[in-house]
Amino acid sequence: MTELAITRSFPTVPQVTSLIDGKHVAPRATGEDIEIVNPATEAVLTRLREADAEEVDAAVRSARRAFDQGPWPRMDINDRKDILYSIRDHLRKHAEELAYLECLNTGLPLQSVRGHVARMARNFEFFAEVASNVHGETYTQTAGFLTYVTREPKGVAGCIAPWNAPLALASMRVATCIPFGNTCVLKPSEYTPLSMLRMVEIFHEAGLPPGVVNLVNGRGAVTGNALVAHPGIDMVGFTGGTVTGRAIAAAAGRNLKPVALELGGKSANIIFDSANFEQALDGALDSIYRNNGQQCLAGSRILVQRSISKRFIEAFVERARRIRIGDPLQADTELGPLAFRQHMERVLSFAEVARSDGAKLLTGGKRSTAQPRGWFIEPTAVLAADNDARVCREEIFGPFATFLEFDTLDEAITIANASNFGLVNYVWSQDLNVAMRCSRDIRAGTVWINTPMMRELRAPFGGYKESGIGRDGPQASLEFFTELKATIIPIDGVKMHRFGAP
Ligand code: NAD
Repeated sequence: MTELAITRSFPTVPQVTSLIDGKHVAPRATGEDIEIVNPATEAVLTRLREADAEEVDAAVRSARRAFDQGPWPRMDINDRKDILYSIRDHLRKHAEELAYLECLNTGLPLQSVRGHVARMARNFEFFAEVASNVHGETYTQTAGFLTYVTREPKGVAGCIAPWNAPLALASMRVATCIPFGNTCVLKPSEYTPLSMLRMVEIFHEAGLPPGVVNLVNGRGAVTGNALVAHPGIDMVGFTGGTVTGRAIAAAAGRNLKPVALELGGKSANIIFDSANFEQALDGALDSIYRNNGQQCLAGSRILVQRSISKRFIEAFVERARRIRIGDPLQADTELGPLAFRQHMERVLSFAEVARSDGAKLLTGGKRSTAQPRGWFIEPTAVLAADNDARVCREEIFGPFATFLEFDTLDEAITIANASNFGLVNYVWSQDLNVAMRCSRDIRAGTVWINTPMMRELRAPFGGYKESGIGRDGPQASLEFFTELKATIIPIDGVKMHRFGAP
């Protein structure tokens, strides 16, 4: 079945503010206004009135009240599950509206975003189930004593999300957190608040009690900083860049607050001569150009075995040049614009960086003229001289592929691991030994063999090295978002030394 373009448009709010305690916050008289722009047309969609430290404080106090006194953490799990399932259903009911707002604000192609909306609904369903299966431990080995261990929600989370896939990523932050009985304050990216505001409204329409999810909007240095530094939060869940992750971990560390960090990547996509050529080609294009190339798990370093590299690179470049660039709201668009002007300029600057590092430009490297306006660039690919080149070491975060050639399996694994990042790796080979060696020896949180990205919610997702701390997943999220409590009770009474007794 061919997918349809978006069926209709939906209204955008005239001004984005915060949503605290279940209510929209009136814009403060003072405060920064940030223009929210459609990256496909450069038109201003709306304005965001930034939340300052005082507004963040109100949001944290609301989340604190909902946690310390509200029904959410104390609710029978079946009732909490009903609300989480209702959130799933409401997200599905409003799927086209959410997809529309997301495409409009991020420039992500509709076909990707529809997938993200389906997944966000699934996230709530899945973690509702995980939370309903939380159980404890009992110990009876010590004679005369029963010790039992219970898990309790940890408290109020600061959840911070990036702009590259707001619905998919912010929903993951919230869906791994609140099912266990926690409450949170969500701060999405200041570039892409449109779908986020609607998402949090939908949570409340679905029956979420006020204060469980509060939304604050604004820049990282102002709103984000006030949230992370707030003494009223108990933990921080962050998805974003490695530099920001470092700053957030340092700020949270000063208050001894635990952090879970999902950060950047420079993932290798290794194509062996034993690969199914056509599948590896499809996979390589998908892994770097999906989501406009703005994805942490992009296969941005494409390592090709020298015996097939000429043929593979030629085929890749030919296909890259035919990618359909266009309006993100059309279902057949494959590549939309980059999210904002400075980001486009940064991505394009790597064409020059590549050249000065001795890399060869294979295609792209400039703005696209396919659309009259917008931050579109041509799908780009370069061939680097070696893995020390900046285009092999730094996350570019756009439709920008870097090729490297290798000769042996050992060499491929060494190059793949020679990175400060360790988020994911892709491997293409029909040789089982090659696949198994890569699975064992690659230092990354996920290894995809003969498949592009396939997110298994039951498995942990996260990075080694500078790609993060912690994982999203049933066990890992349970560990992060709950506290363990041991209760020890004597069964037969306890004999004690009686200090001071005659
Ligand atoms: P970013 O780090 O610039 O911003 C992320 C969020 O942090 C934004 O909401 C921003 O406002 C906020 N922020 C910035 N400075 C802050 C501060 N000092 N205190 C508190 N909050 C602050 O990232 P981005 O540019 O929005 O997103 C792209 C990055 O995210 C890429 O590096 C990408 O790889 C990474 N990412 C990682 C994953 C993953 O699962 N590992 C997923 C998606 C994106």
